[in-house]
Amino acid sequence: MNEVAREKITTGFSIHKSLFEYNPDAIFATQVDGTATQVNESALRMTGYSMAELDRLTFHELVAPEDQVRASEAFEKALRGESHQVEIAMVLRNGVQQDVHVTSIPNIEGGEVVGVLYVVRAIMARKQQEEQLRRNEALYQLINDHAQDVISYSTPDGMLRWISPAIHTLLGWEVEEMVGKYSSAIYHPEDWAAFLDHPPAGDVGIFDCRVQHKEGHYLWFETTVKLIRNDAGEIEKVLGIGRNITLRKQAEDNLRATRDRLESFIENHVDSIIILDPECRILRVNAAFEKMFGWSQAEVAKVLLFDLPLVPPEHEAELETIKDLMLAGEPVIGTEAVRMHRDGTPLDVLLSISPHRDEAGHIAGYSFTIRDITDRKRTEELLLQSEKLNIAGQLAAGVAHEIRNPLTALVGFVQLMQQGMSNPKYLEIMSAELKRIETIVSELLVLSKPQAMTYKPKKLADILQHVVTLIETQAIIHNVQVLPSFDPDELPALECDENQLKQVFINFLQNAIDAMPHGGDIHIEVERTALHEVLIHIRDQGIGIPPERIEKLGEPFYTTKEKGTGLGLMISKRIIDHHNGSMQIDSEVDVGTTISVRLPCFLQGGIV
Ligand code: ADP
Ligand code: MG
Repeated sequence: MNEVAREKITTGFSIHKSLFEYNPDAIFATQVDGTATQVNESALRMTGYSMAELDRLTFHELVAPEDQVRASEAFEKALRGESHQVEIAMVLRNGVQQDVHVTSIPNIEGGEVVGVLYVVRAIMARKQQEEQLRRNEALYQLINDHAQDVISYSTPDGMLRWISPAIHTLLGWEVEEMVGKYSSAIYHPEDWAAFLDHPPAGDVGIFDCRVQHKEGHYLWFETTVKLIRNDAGEIEKVLGIGRNITLRKQAEDNLRATRDRLESFIENHVDSIIILDPECRILRVNAAFEKMFGWSQAEVAKVLLFDLPLVPPEHEAELETIKDLMLAGEPVIGTEAVRMHRDGTPLDVLLSISPHRDEAGHIAGYSFTIRDITDRKRTEELLLQSEKLNIAGQLAAGVAHEIRNPLTALVGFVQLMQQGMSNPKYLEIMSAELKRIETIVSELLVLSKPQAMTYKPKKLADILQHVVTLIETQAIIHNVQVLPSFDPDELPALECDENQLKQVFINFLQNAIDAMPHGGDIHIEVERTALHEVLIHIRDQGIGIPPERIEKLGEPFYTTKEKGTGLGLMISKRIIDHHNGSMQIDSEVDVGTTISVRLPCFLQGGIV
């Protein structure tokens, strides 16, 4: 053999050896009788046997029993000089079956088959295929569940390897143009920077960011990032699920705008506003509150509302009622109350309370609106006063007339007595006339007294009788008869401000007289409509009121009289309201008018 030939052989031999030893496939070289002669590293790795163990086994002993026939076929073919391929199962050292693809190749030396080479490659077992299928199914399930979401897998450094078709419907990008790109490329730079500044602490993170549409504009996405690790704990890939939350963001923006509007509404409201948490701690007050009460937001924040001295001590009892209503979740709408400035100045206020409820209907807090009506109250009182004076003026004429009669009588009797004529009858008459003068004058005084609402139990019969006495002279002048048709003993007592109620009835009687320029009758009837309620009717036979005018009644200064004020009905209504009563006007033109006043009363008449 020359040098060149030797060279070729050794080179061929070393190639052969490398191919054998470093082949990724397992190779088993057997002799013609089937016994193993040689295996490579890959064969050891695949089967789990050691070299020593495999030396004692034939290739056929590694083949699963059900595949023996097919393995033999491959062997026979190779012996006949033909290569053959077959898929069979091998039993590994750990007893597990492994599906393998086997190529049997005749080992030919000097033109003669001296053995068989098996090149064995592991193929995925059915089970593994099923596993793969299951994984795919899970992936499709994921896609299905998140059909509206963009799902992606990226490399640990963020390069997109796979992305769901939603990227096209939502953001206009083609799947193909995104795969291979870094997902950060379409994130808004600010949001991406924020994400890098605060990366999620664990393997799962959720963050909101703007993502660019292919057309250039941005949409808000909520992105969930999940790191997927291999068995060794290294990050293998990154799962991303992006959800379009543009609408939600818009709703949030709207909410914020609404909140800002509400905030400015509260802050700039002319009424004081107090907002409480469910435990009645003050959350906030507005500027009007600070001005009205002299307490600043900083001073009252977190303070229990009822610990703040806003209620004058003499009104504390009334506070309990309001508190009870409020805690029961009832709204309080425009109730009159007295509150107090920090410096002790009392304030007449109109108080409203509304409870706030959460979705479940539980109380989530309360808001108080407090309107300062001190000025309005003062005006009302002035009106009350002026109407009273006016009535007093109207009455004065009648009164003067009425007083003149008994005075004339008195003067006459005094002259008679001066002339030495005396008769006990004279004194009796004189005393009666003096009593009459006294009654009229004292009632007149009562009316002109300043108002301080004092509620005391009073007999209704007494009130009505006094009023009748007072108005009678006026009535007689106008040829009007006042006819009380009730039994004084039957009438109950009322919790009332006597002077004010008297003013109400005088107003009604005066109106009734005014309505009968040619005289007539006024009937006063009293009905007991319930245990705790009386209904008083004042019925005249006057000119009546056309229906379209009835609704105008009670408006201040609405009058049809030359010397009228148009205040009587309004003030009367207010006084009745204060007594928790109500009034009603029924009228027919040229037939007459009936004013009905409903008032709460005591069970018995004899309380006083
Ligand atoms: P004034 O008596 O000063 O006009 P009021 O408020 O007492 O003011 O009454 C307002 C108006 O209501 C009267 O001007 C009158 O037109 C009408 N009115 C009130 N009571 C009666 C009545 N009994 N009959 C007819 N009209 C009445
Ligand atoms: Mg009047």
